[in-house]
Amino acid sequence: MANVKRKASPLAKIDKEIMAPRESGNAAPARALEVIKKGLAISVGESLVLELNAIVDLGETESTRNLIRNFFLAEKYKRGTAKAPSEKVVHAAVIGAGVMGSGIAQWLSSGGVTVILRDVSREQIERGLADIEKTYALAVRRGRVSDERAKEGRARIVASTAPMELRDVQVVIEAASEKIDIKKEIFRDLSMKVGPRTIVATNTSALPISELAACTISPDRVIGLHFFNPVSRMKLVEVVVGKETSEETKERSLAFVRQIGKLPVVVRDGPGFLVNRVLFPYLVEAAALFENGVGADKIDNALIKWGMPMGPLRLIDEIGVDIAVDIASTLEKAYGQRDHAPEILGKMREANLLGRKSGAGFYKYEGKSQTPDESLEQWRRSTARIGHPERSEESLKSPTVGDREIPRSARNDIVDLAHRLIFLTINEAARCLEEKVVESPEDADYGMILGTGFAPFRGGPLRFADHFGLKKVADEMEQFARSDEKFAPCELLKKRARNGTTFYES
Ligand code: NAD
Repeated sequence: MANVKRKASPLAKIDKEIMAPRESGNAAPARALEVIKKGLAISVGESLVLELNAIVDLGETESTRNLIRNFFLAEKYKRGTAKAPSEKVVHAAVIGAGVMGSGIAQWLSSGGVTVILRDVSREQIERGLADIEKTYALAVRRGRVSDERAKEGRARIVASTAPMELRDVQVVIEAASEKIDIKKEIFRDLSMKVGPRTIVATNTSALPISELAACTISPDRVIGLHFFNPVSRMKLVEVVVGKETSEETKERSLAFVRQIGKLPVVVRDGPGFLVNRVLFPYLVEAAALFENGVGADKIDNALIKWGMPMGPLRLIDEIGVDIAVDIASTLEKAYGQRDHAPEILGKMREANLLGRKSGAGFYKYEGKSQTPDESLEQWRRSTARIGHPERSEESLKSPTVGDREIPRSARNDIVDLAHRLIFLTINEAARCLEEKVVESPEDADYGMILGTGFAPFRGGPLRFADHFGLKKVADEMEQFARSDEKFAPCELLKKRARNGTTFYES
């Protein structure tokens, strides 16, 4: 019999080649796949009806409404509200050629801005320029820019360790090491060298803008422009307004951020600004849960299922355990226990388990694979903090609230775990609103979505809280707070929960 090769049916091909979308609380990907699969076996007319029904059903879900809202928010942040056209920035300087400085220089140069890149270390300049080359090469490989354009962009950067003339630059962005004394010295120096209209910006993650501004002769022209890493991929820039920053500097900075294709969120000066401030209570609590015996996979998967692009422990590995400990310590000084890094993070730092950059952290990284790092066992449970019973794996299975045990059947571990962590972000975002770090709930939510990838279909921490019910959030937090006071809901959350109002007006 002739060996007849059968063609695989398109349906089998889809089943084989398209992975089931991961569970995330957003019904749209699974529904879309279902429509595609069913559509292959029916007529075009029938499949169009299927498609239409799915669109109508999905259009009524909170997830879709949030995603549509995010689209319009992006348009709003892109446009801004400036009435008068602002000058185009064509000439800028970046101080510090490390990870961020080189990333910022590359991004500006790709947008047509000529850049003076300065560092005190020749090696750092060379490394920074090599990173810039790599970013351009990747953009060419991915077809985002032509080879010629990439060469033109690269040629716009002049890098040196020698002091350079800065009078003609319109914006200087300081991205040197995160040490207040180094930055103060740089700001003193810049203040004497720049022109009378130059904006002097810092990319600091957590240091006070106002303290840096105080070292200059024109504090009104000092502002924070907090880019995120990697600069070429992260759209958000927190525009941090210090006590003395003038309205004009703020408006010109906003126009500059938009000119270079980033999306600005205005935040008030204060430790961690918005994004790190809201993120860190969540990250350190995840590390504390791990320290107290809850598995890394269990924690991360719970949050991925909830809709986060990656779990909190994996995110600490990406940020770098050392950097996470430093930021947490700055925040703890300002906000107390809720930003306290558990001991295990310190132990990991001492052992050079810094996360992805050192090859191991909460996970071991080999090629594309990632497995929980078993060497961390030695520091778990032995350092468990007494008085936080519900943090242990055992108690997550059978949680107690005060003296009352919650019936096992009524709880769902995964949801508990996710809520425990997400509620901390809600509380902190509400505090940012309460203290006017941000002007509106949109700013807090959009900042978190853009800056951390916070589940976009949830609409951000505050939008999610409104949808979930503020009373339910506050009640659950009060219960958690019985054994750990950092969970106590803030005044604004309690007030809205009591009044039956929401963070958003509609
Ligand atoms: P980095 O250590 O990679 O680079 C810092 C650079 O500053 C080094 O090249 C160093 O030689 C240079 N430097 C030190 N003193 C200098 C001086 N007097 N003049 C010129 N250059 C000097 O650090 P980084 O990660 O690029 O961080 C830079 C800034 O950006 C910090 O304020 C950091 O908090 C902030 N930031 C970092 C990230 C991140 O993920 N790495 C994200 C957002 C913001």
